[in-house]
Amino acid sequence: MKDTFKHRGKRNHLVEVIQQKGIEDKRVLEAISKIPRHLFMDSSFEDHAYQDKAFPIAANQTISQPYTVARQSELLEIQADEKVLEIGTGSGYQTAVLIELGCKVYTIERQHELFKKTKLFLPKLGYRPKRFIYGDGYKGLPEEAPFDKIIVTAGAPFIPKDLMAQLKVGGLLVIPVGEKQQTMVRLERVSDKEFKKENFGAFRFVPLLENKNH
Ligand code: SAH
Repeated sequence: MKDTFKHRGKRNHLVEVIQQKGIEDKRVLEAISKIPRHLFMDSSFEDHAYQDKAFPIAANQTISQPYTVARQSELLEIQADEKVLEIGTGSGYQTAVLIELGCKVYTIERQHELFKKTKLFLPKLGYRPKRFIYGDGYKGLPEEAPFDKIIVTAGAPFIPKDLMAQLKVGGLLVIPVGEKQQTMVRLERVSDKEFKKENFGAFRFVPLLENKNH
């Protein structure tokens, strides 16, 4: 698990690339500049780790494109110590960005293989989510609700009602919605019963699937 001068140089270049694509939040850019993305991927992809692209990880899933991770993180407007629910732990890269932003992360993954792997791996880099859950993110995590922020990192065919119900008033839910291609949607819970919806353009994610998978 090495992070060399060369890796850091490539990472600084990646930060410039995503900045040019429109990422403005300095704290998000700083998080990306710190996290050794190459260690979250299979070593055969190591040379490509600092390209602004998604790559395959275990269980037919992907590590999201850095621009996408940065955009979702920026849209969440994270403040220190907030309680954040993440659906789709995957490689744990987005989880690490959230932890760098200073929040308490509760993260759920439905692929058992990825859940096991990432649960062991993240603490080795010093990243410790509050809770790692193997489960179905459509249901959220009712026993820890309400959350200040909720992020979904897989394409959802619709916005799960349970996730809306687990958001604090004033809280934000950032979720890519759609089947083949997704629109990045941000919901703000403005009162107990009312949500404000904003759209932030087209993205492509692996699908949010129901139930757990062994
Ligand atoms: N943020 C991750 C993205 C991984 S891809 C990263 O950058 O590495 C999306 C992840 O969502 C996959 O790991 C997939 O298994 C997971 N996923 C899909 N449906 C889910 C569900 N219902 N509950 C929890 N995780 C789910």
